Amino acid sequence: MPVPGIDRRRLLLGAGGLTLAATAASAAAQTAPMSAPKAVGQPVLGNPDLPDAPSQRMRWAIVGLGSFAMGQVVPGFMTADEARITAFVSGNPDKARNFGARYGVAKLYNYDNFDQIAADKEIDCVYIVLPVGLHAEYTIRALKAGKHVLCEKPMASTPAECEAMIAAARAANRQLGVAYRVHFEPNNVEVARRCLSGELGPLRYFTGDSGFNADPEHWPPHRWRLQKALAGGGSMYDIGIYAMNAAMMCLGEEPVSVSAVYAYPRDDPRFREVEGGVDWRMSFPSGVHAQGSSSYCYAGGTRQKIFGATGAIVMEPASDYYRQNVTLSNGQPLNAGNPITQFAAQVDAFSRAARGNTPHRTPGEMGLRDIRLIQAMYKSADNDGMKVGV
Ligand code: NDP
Repeated sequence: MPVPGIDRRRLLLGAGGLTLAATAASAAAQTAPMSAPKAVGQPVLGNPDLPDAPSQRMRWAIVGLGSFAMGQVVPGFMTADEARITAFVSGNPDKARNFGARYGVAKLYNYDNFDQIAADKEIDCVYIVLPVGLHAEYTIRALKAGKHVLCEKPMASTPAECEAMIAAARAANRQLGVAYRVHFEPNNVEVARRCLSGELGPLRYFTGDSGFNADPEHWPPHRWRLQKALAGGGSMYDIGIYAMNAAMMCLGEEPVSVSAVYAYPRDDPRFREVEGGVDWRMSFPSGVHAQGSSSYCYAGGTRQKIFGATGAIVMEPASDYYRQNVTLSNGQPLNAGNPITQFAAQVDAFSRAARGNTPHRTPGEMGLRDIRLIQAMYKSADNDGMKVGV
């Protein structure tokens, strides 16, 4: 009886195919050598830069399982060679349990029992991914627990908090880094190398814009960003810091003075506590200027351009998670690597620094420098754009 859906002709062809295959196999068996090949082990060959065995990787606790932690940071660890996650710290136990099960992370802490990580021998490093106003407290508690700390940008709300974090790291003899991920993003690193190598001739000017339109109604992570106690500052703290930091990365200098003006609609109810936008300028010892804008009021984007006497490089987007478009002076694109690798590269680099007790590429001192510069920009903007020495 025919089976519904099975074509009789294909069945016949299939049967014929089987017969042919059986005939071919029997012919091969007749011509094969007498002894069958054997599987035999071989010496170690291949990749000389094998990743660390999981048991040897630095073990990390992630503090705050929010949108950036779970969207970018934790997935980044999956391709890290020298780091792995052993603990999650969260105020939401259900979320922590679910993510723990998903990522094989067995140790779950909360904000109340956080200090117990001191006794946990399976945590070497702590990654703080909390709102800015909580960075100093949790960084210092982690350092006091004897752990190395990588803290998200911006480092903290005030220069005094940053100084206290650095002092805590020194007292504990532990590494403190600020997570300026573009220092580990292959295209940004290559652009800075080209700028500093003289490829563009003497550097003359940097311009950079970074912003997005804050939407606290529909996107909860934008809510704390508009509250001074949790955010520390406004658009300049959160997003303007990228181009400002990149200017120093590409020019290889630190400014001697800054100036800035606020740039946002003053009647916008989103900006009662923090500024919605800043147009800023930095003057460097060489005479070069950098300028840019940061905004919580314009459509999302990051763009940078570095001009030398004989060439220029454009980046747009400049500090994306997944995509950087870089155009060189000759109009050719630059493709120095996949931006997604920045997340693993950053935690691998910090793991090496922590293990070897060597300085991390983006240390606490860089975070402090940047908070001081932004505070100087606020001072300037509060005084109609007057020049402020730094
Ligand atoms: P989210 O609001 O998405 O996440 C913050 C997490 O912190 C929350 O999910 C919560 O985790 C925890 N938390 C503890 N207390 C509070 C509180 N009072 N209010 C809100 N959250 C609290 O923020 P983001 O992930 O966007 O930002 C986190 C950090 O990462 C910030 O420092 C930010 O500047 C930085 N960041 C860096 C980026 C980069 O490219 N380097 C990009 C985006 C953000 P839980 O529920 O687990 O307790």
